[in-house]
Amino acid sequence: MTDEPTPARPPADDEAVGDPVCWLERVCDDCGALADGPPEPVCARCGSRSSA
Ligand SMILES: [Zn+2]
Repeated sequence: MTDEPTPARPPADDEAVGDPVCWLERVCDDCGALADGPPEPVCARCGSRSSA
């Protein structure tokens, strides 16, 4: 087994579909509704308040 350093590979995640965290905060914890826009303080479906 050799001790050669592995060549650095360039990051190929630039064309990722999207960071899950981006939409995770838009998902209601209670009913799982996915907000279409920016995260709202109150869920539009069940009215549950997301305690951030
Ligand atoms: Zn909800």
